[in-house]
Amino acid sequence: MDVTSKLLSVFLVDKQLRGLQSRLHAAERFLGEQDKQLQQIDAKRTALETQVRQLKVTIADAEGQTKSIDERMAHLRDQMGAAKTNKEYKAFLTELNTYKADRDALETSTLEQMGKLDELKKQLAEFNSQKSEREKVRTVAGGDRDSREAEIKDRVAELKAQRAKLAAEVPADALKTLEKLIHEREDDAMAPLEEHDRRRHEYTCGSCMMALPVEKLSALLSNGRMTHCPSCGCLLYLEAELHKQLTAPASKR
Ligand SMILES: [Zn+2]
Repeated sequence: MDVTSKLLSVFLVDKQLRGLQSRLHAAERFLGEQDKQLQQIDAKRTALETQVRQLKVTIADAEGQTKSIDERMAHLRDQMGAAKTNKEYKAFLTELNTYKADRDALETSTLEQMGKLDELKKQLAEFNSQKSEREKVRTVAGGDRDSREAEIKDRVAELKAQRAKLAAEVPADALKTLEKLIHEREDDAMAPLEEHDRRRHEYTCGSCMMALPVEKLSALLSNGRMTHCPSCGCLLYLEAELHKQLTAPASKR
């Protein structure tokens, strides 16, 4: 077998493998996307939970302060009731009014913070429901990935063994060239040389459709050496049927 035929065998098995694995890879990408989104949701939830915790501490502090102001005010009222002189009474009253102003300011800011806390809790609930929705999608995606993998597992192993066996037959340099082309062009790494008009020597590349010089055909026909399309760089090969026609005795042509 010439080198082009050997390369073609590897290429065709490789193509089957890639085709078989493409649905699995799509399922893996989808699963990865779900994981990424879950991470983003979790990061937002953690940040909100921290804010909620801090705000609760601030509100509890304010409530503590209000309580101690209330105690102080009750005590002042008692002192006012027991005041001996008008001057003493007025001094307690001034102090009481200061506390009252402080208390009002504290109450206003606490109310604001409680409103903010409600808003944060609402946002958190929204992220929690997003998370549980996303987790459902992720579970389905994970099952899908696993079943696709199980479906093709045996066939993939078979094709991989076959590929390894065929690849061992190909000279290392040629194999490297093919692998590089597969990496860059996937299914267009190799393409058949297509015949348009035999008498006028019109041949084209099956990948890029550009015209090929007739020497490319001669090279493939004579010794099947590695032959690249000068336009797109793919490796050319002759399909069995065309090869048979071209090498048949002249009378049959
Ligand atoms: Zn081409």
